[in-house]
Amino acid sequence: MAIRVTVWGENVHERENKVVAGLYPEGMHRAIADALNTDAGVSASTVTLQDPEHGLTAQKLAETDVLIWWGHAAHGDVADAVVDRVCEAVWSGMGAIFLHSAHFAKPFKRLMGSPCNLTWREAGERERIWLTSRNHPIAAGLPDHFELETEEMYGEPFGVPEPMETVFVSWFQGGEVFRSGLTYKRGAGSVFYFRPGHETYPTYHNAHVQRVILNAVKWAHNPGARLAEPSAAPNVPVDQALEPITERGPRLHQNGEEGFR
Ligand code: ZN
Repeated sequence: MAIRVTVWGENVHERENKVVAGLYPEGMHRAIADALNTDAGVSASTVTLQDPEHGLTAQKLAETDVLIWWGHAAHGDVADAVVDRVCEAVWSGMGAIFLHSAHFAKPFKRLMGSPCNLTWREAGERERIWLTSRNHPIAAGLPDHFELETEEMYGEPFGVPEPMETVFVSWFQGGEVFRSGLTYKRGAGSVFYFRPGHETYPTYHNAHVQRVILNAVKWAHNPGARLAEPSAAPNVPVDQALEPITERGPRLHQNGEEGFR
């Protein structure tokens, strides 16, 4: 069965900015999904901020193997209830890929637990992306380095936790460098951050970028069953311990009690 991908698009600048609309007439989310759908092993659909519940109902998330998120101008408009739902889905095993300015998306910040800040400059600089993890599945089929002729600069320090693996680093014409491909495990879910994709440049039409995103979808896909209650913290009563034990000392809680959260 094909990997079910949902591409979430903020869909604001595509409708309000002529340059962005010219590059992505049907939205960046559509361009990303169309590229993914050229692979027979993937079935990608799109939802946007403007859809009811931002398109991310409980049912849609249950039917999503990998969620891709692009947002920039309207991070604050994303409902906290939807953020909760997305994070629960990741913790229960859904894959998630956050692109470019989604470093400040609410679910990404929640999953990282850190400021996720960086330095930046919008000057159409050349970006050279270097592969730093040979044979990593997300780098499959890519050259040791490739270039995007015009991109926004993102520079270190990038305020994220140390990743499991850094798959790519970027160099920019102005001299800055940035860890531009990072993998994380959050609960049972795999998370990938990929830097390129400023909306005024044709980045998502680039074959190497499309390849990275396709590889990342396959990497983040978890074929196992989703955890039913990823946040459960059950008490194990004394009489259910795997080895017989005798209770000692004072106690605050009763057997089987819910506990504080
Ligand atoms: Zn940008």
